[in-house]
Amino acid sequence: MIEVHAKKRLGQHFLTDEGVAKAIAETLPMDNGLPVLEIGPGMGVLTKYLKEIHGERLTAVEIDHESVEYLMRELADVKVIEGDFLKLDLRTLFPGDGDFMVIGNYPYNISSQIFFKVLENRDRIPICAGMIQKEVAERIAAGPGNKTYGITSVLLQAFYDIEYVMTVHEHVFNPPPKVKSAVIRMTRNGRKSLGCDEKAFIDIVKRAFNQRRKTMRNSLKQLLNERIENDDVFNRRPETLSVEEFVALTNLILNH
Ligand code: SAH
Repeated sequence: MIEVHAKKRLGQHFLTDEGVAKAIAETLPMDNGLPVLEIGPGMGVLTKYLKEIHGERLTAVEIDHESVEYLMRELADVKVIEGDFLKLDLRTLFPGDGDFMVIGNYPYNISSQIFFKVLENRDRIPICAGMIQKEVAERIAAGPGNKTYGITSVLLQAFYDIEYVMTVHEHVFNPPPKVKSAVIRMTRNGRKSLGCDEKAFIDIVKRAFNQRRKTMRNSLKQLLNERIENDDVFNRRPETLSVEEFVALTNLILNH
């Protein structure tokens, strides 16, 4: 069997542990009947378990031509699209406005961009799970008060409940990555809308954390005026604010 030559620029680290692959595939609900999109199937280690569970409802998107050829040979009955997930038009892939689930042992170099695209499509994606770099997983899952709580934590937690499922060591990959990995599961929470202007919210969260050692009075200086600048909230550091408090802060700034 000819194997795919691992390409660093595509974040290719192939999982070699069947037990871990099966466990990742099983992080998605198995019987809700929703379509499943796998991002970056590579040589199909997860794909074969996903196919077993979800059958015809599975589609995989893979950017690497050599991997696509491999999959067409070895897993001929799986629907594989050759392309870049970040450029994929999800409305064409899954017509209508029905829900679908997202999974993968993701290319770590673009995991944040993948999750921001999931966030943009949140009203169609009730669950997204899979493997990423451990530090990124910890950041996404961290709550207020935690020193890794930051921009991605707030933005994703606004719309998803995050579970840190398990840590995975580098020796179960070929070639082994330099970093540890972790599996997370993100489940859409009940929040329909934020309760404030979303663009302003994102802007304020980013400004606040870009200078995380400063008080928010300092980092948000350009947005404040004398009516609100003495509010106690501005004495705080961004990592102490919950999603709700960032929403309230956005409204305080916008309405004064
Ligand atoms: N899921 C496989 C491969 C993981 S490596 C396994 O567990 O072994 C990450 C995979 O994502 C690689 O196959 C890589 O080619 C693919 N990939 C990288 N960038 C991508 C993109 N933008 N869109 C789709 N797939 C991508």
